[in-house]
Amino acid sequence: MRNSLLDSRGNRNFGNMFDVHTHKRNAEWRGSAIVNLKVDDNVDMYPYFSLGIHPWDVDELWTDKLQRLKCTVDKLVSMNNSSFCAIGEIGLDHLKGGSMDLQIRCFEEQLGMAEYYAKPVIVHCVKAFDETLQVIKSLKFSMPVVFHGFRGKPEQARQLLDKGFYISFGPKFNPSSMKLAYAEGRMFLETDDSGTDIASVYESAGRVLNISPTDIPVPGIFTS
Ligand SMILES: [Zn+2]
Repeated sequence: MRNSLLDSRGNRNFGNMFDVHTHKRNAEWRGSAIVNLKVDDNVDMYPYFSLGIHPWDVDELWTDKLQRLKCTVDKLVSMNNSSFCAIGEIGLDHLKGGSMDLQIRCFEEQLGMAEYYAKPVIVHCVKAFDETLQVIKSLKFSMPVVFHGFRGKPEQARQLLDKGFYISFGPKFNPSSMKLAYAEGRMFLETDDSGTDIASVYESAGRVLNISPTDIPVPGIFTS
């Protein structure tokens, strides 16, 4: 059966699939997944992880969290920890989280950290598209940027791609935006906090792009 990810026994075949952003801590490891962790989480048990202060977690204690994040990141980088893939998810959210002022400050600090330690970032952006782009631009941020969980229209996707950014799509996405990112070779797929597994996301991407899910390439920004 074309485009099927089921093997001869009917099991899911995760093959070379890569889940760039998930909050699931005990699944999806048959493919590679970057598990998103919070500042005080134990990082030892994850083959790949991202670490950062989510805009929802920006509160009056954010500078303490930032301090602890700096400490951990510094340690991981000095130990050459190859599981540590990215600073994330970080960004701006107008619907939830701390005040926009604090969110912006926390986002800036973490972008600065990513630049210093030469790490890509995984960006959460909800109803704050222009502000997010503005912050990234004003800092002249030069490491790879992945906009995760992107559901925006092709016009927004075009803007991101023109700036050299990457776009990650989950179970819900705009097919035209996905086609644009795929054409540029800057598309990732993810499960985020959904109940969907990464194979299903690959299957729907394969249908939209009219290619076999197993042929979907993964941009190599996390391999150093
Ligand atoms: Zn997430």
